[in-house]
This record gives sequence, C-alpha cells and structure tokens, in this order.
Amino acid sequence: MWGFFVFMIMIDLIKHLMKEQQEVIRTSHFDRIMDKFREGFPNEYKNVIDSISDDVKSFIRDNNYTIKFLNSCSTGFGGVRTDKAVIICSPNFMSSVGDFLYTIYHEIRHEQQISIFKMGNPTIDSLDDFEELSEKYWQMELDADRFAKQKIAKIVMNSKIPIDKAKILFRLSQYIEDYPSLSKMVKFHIAKIANQLKYMRDSGQEVKDISDHPSVKQYMDRLEDFI
Ligand SMILES: [Zn+2]
Repeated sequence: MWGFFVFMIMIDLIKHLMKEQQEVIRTSHFDRIMDKFREGFPNEYKNVIDSISDDVKSFIRDNNYTIKFLNSCSTGFGGVRTDKAVIICSPNFMSSVGDFLYTIYHEIRHEQQISIFKMGNPTIDSLDDFEELSEKYWQMELDADRFAKQKIAKIVMNSKIPIDKAKILFRLSQYIEDYPSLSKMVKFHIAKIANQLKYMRDSGQEVKDISDHPSVKQYMDRLEDFI
C-alpha cells in the first residue's frame, strides 16, 4: 500500500514539474520581468501592467523591431542598439517599471534614428572627429531621452492611475531623471568608446558597428528572445 501511495505522489510530482516547465516555456523574458513589477502594484492597478505589456509587445511586433534580452549582464549599460538587434541588458537591477520601459523605448528610438531617420551611426561614422561625434551623439541621446519620457507620460495618462500614485509606481531613477544634464559624462564615455574603436580599426580590425566593441561583442552569442 505504501508503494502505491509513493507511486501516486511521484505521478503528482511529475505532473506538477511538467506544468511548471510548460509555464516557463510560455513566459517570455519580457513577461517575466513585467510579472515582477506587477507584484509591486496595488491590486486595483495590476491590470494596468497587462495593458502596458500588450502595448509594448504590439509596438515591437508591428514595427518589426529585433529586440534581444541579455541575462546576467554587467556591461554598465541598461541597453544598447546594435546593427543586429536592440539589446536590453538584464533588468534585474531596475528598480521600477518606469526604468524598464524607459530603457526599451530609449533604445528603440536609437534604432529609429539610424534605420528610419538615417541620422547616421555616430559611433562609427565620425571616428576621426570626436568633437563632431560627441555633439551629434549627444543630440541623439537627448532625442531618445525625450522620446522615452514622452512614452512613459502617455502610458501613465492612459493608465488613469492618480498622478500622486503613478509618480511612485513609475518613478524613474535619479540617473534617468537627470540624463539631459549629464552631457559631459555621456560625451566623455562615448569619446572613450570611439577612441577604442578607432584604435581597433587603425590596427586592422574590422569595425562596422558598436557590436564590434569588446564590451558588447563578448555578449553577442548570449542573446535570448525578449518577447
Ligand atoms: Zn542612448
């Protein structure tokens, strides 16, 4: 009789494990992260997370953007646009759904700037003129920053969450809030990357995109689907 009970328990356990595995397969990285933020939302606003998720996914699908997810990434940036995909780095450290959505829309805007508006690829096009490069790059940063913040403002408005509560739920980290005033820091950072790419190119390596830079290149074979 004990053997029979153990057998039944085993069957139950196996069924349970199979169900869990199916759930893991069904849930994308994007959904998993949004689920995490849903937990922090008050019950009456949890459905807002679902409609935001639907909007983000249709925006990505309708425009055919290639978005990839990078797990356990310590690149020092939340996202990066490359010629192969927009990469969202492990958002585990992102403290609010606001930061997460900001990163997605900020990087998608860089994709639009280069693919649709043909603004050029400043990390590659002007390697020999840093002054021009950094100013052009900074203007594109400001544009991406504005675009992402406007998207979040629209999401908050559509959510009908009272503004004082929305301010907390969608709070952007100080770094993102202050981004437009960080031109010196960002320009310094991009000049450094450009310098390294120029050095690589001058020493005979092929440099066509930011994804050729070691800080990005080392992760390119570890990209996973995002949605
Ligand atoms: Zn940017």
